[in-house]
Amino acid sequence: MTIASQQREENACFRHFIDAGDHYIGTIKAGQTIRIVDVEGNEAADTLFFNANDPSERYSAVDTVREQGKVYLSTGSELRSNLNNVMLTITADTCGRHDTLGGACASESNTVRYDLEKRHMHSCRDNWMLAIANHPEYGITKRDIAHNINFFMNVPVTANGELYFDDGISGPGKYVEMIAEMDVVVLISNCPQLNNPCSGFNPTPLEVLVWD
Ligand SMILES: [Zn+2]
Repeated sequence: MTIASQQREENACFRHFIDAGDHYIGTIKAGQTIRIVDVEGNEAADTLFFNANDPSERYSAVDTVREQGKVYLSTGSELRSNLNNVMLTITADTCGRHDTLGGACASESNTVRYDLEKRHMHSCRDNWMLAIANHPEYGITKRDIAHNINFFMNVPVTANGELYFDDGISGPGKYVEMIAEMDVVVLISNCPQLNNPCSGFNPTPLEVLVWD
């Protein structure tokens, strides 16, 4: 459901642009609100959440989809962990729906889906690995990387249960906003994918804002 936020940009305690193809890792305290903005439109924000006090507890698409009984995420969705705790709740959304089934791009999937020569292309999994390698202080290891949310990405589920990557339903300035229900580490890959329409074949910046 599309609902605009009451938060004012000038009151944000943190603002950060994630360049095209780049990544971001940071902590959001319980009670803070985080907004992710699709600055130029048609981008995909491949996002993982971890319990900041115990990164073995992390976002779970399985628990989230089962508990809400819907496959897409939007306003009101409770983002649940592998321990079935609510990590964040989506409080505003001007895009309308977000994918949590399609997974993130990786060297392996690029090779299988597109071509052997795509093996060395920059991917979301590479971004996540670089972020956790550069920031060991968060205590996140390779084994903690699991299924993710693709904010703004359009992955329709067909009548016979298939998924496909479709052209975006997002647009310039659309955003999704969540309140943290526990202290969380957020890890975002601004998808650098060039082989399917999830980034419009033209990766662009994202912006992160946080309010106390
Ligand atoms: Zn990607």
